[in-house]
Amino acid sequence: MSVTKPKNKIIIAVDGFSSCGKSTFAKAIAARLGYIFIDTGAMYRAVTLYALEHGAIRSGIVDEEAVVKLLPQISITFRFNPERGASDIYVNGDLVEGKIRTIEVSNCVSQVSAIPEVRHKLVAMQQEMGRRRGVVMDGRDIGTVVFPDAELKLFMTADPEVRAVRRYKELKEKGMQVSLEEIERNVRERDKADMSRAVSPLRQAEDAIVLDNSHMTVEEQMSWLLDRFAEVTGTNPAH
Ligand code: C5P
Repeated sequence: MSVTKPKNKIIIAVDGFSSCGKSTFAKAIAARLGYIFIDTGAMYRAVTLYALEHGAIRSGIVDEEAVVKLLPQISITFRFNPERGASDIYVNGDLVEGKIRTIEVSNCVSQVSAIPEVRHKLVAMQQEMGRRRGVVMDGRDIGTVVFPDAELKLFMTADPEVRAVRRYKELKEKGMQVSLEEIERNVRERDKADMSRAVSPLRQAEDAIVLDNSHMTVEEQMSWLLDRFAEVTGTNPAH
């Protein structure tokens, strides 16, 4: 049976720095356009959580060989959760959505995501998920490595202080005990680690459009995005 590529559906790659609101925005775009939203950071976080729970990370030290050995036994799936309007992430059938955004995971995820075998496995999964297009995928290397042919590529950025405050509020709302200083340190360290790693470092694709949302609301960003979408596809979803 042949599968026809849906007409006019494109891939929207949303890359950028930590805590810029990429996921919130990507989720809103997907809902607006009837596309599927894929949070690739959640996948790297899920592998990190599994490594923490299975002894491959001890006292914050990542044993890369041990992580690689665990990889074949990690199966990641997504299931749509209508309450969140997005998909929850599962590892080997266990719901881990609520456990992957802790500061412990955040502090180790950049190291885990720099392991070539980890990237190889997750990038292949991401490419498969976007095969039929109609997806909004957020991450660090979507426009450069996962889908270099994405029709619309955004590179999101915002002042580090603004980003730290946003992440702080988000974690506080979830009842987590964290300090703003710790978050800001984590945001800056992850930026540095993500940009300087050897495999698929965070960088702006040449054909990506920069969106600095330090002082923009989600509505303003959406209006901006819909104009870009109209330019690329020639179709104009009403604002
Ligand atoms: O997007 P989020 O902040 O949840 O991502 C967590 C971490 O996962 C990033 O700091 C980065 O180290 C890694 N990541 C990555 N490539 C992606 C998405 C996330 O390396 N496509």
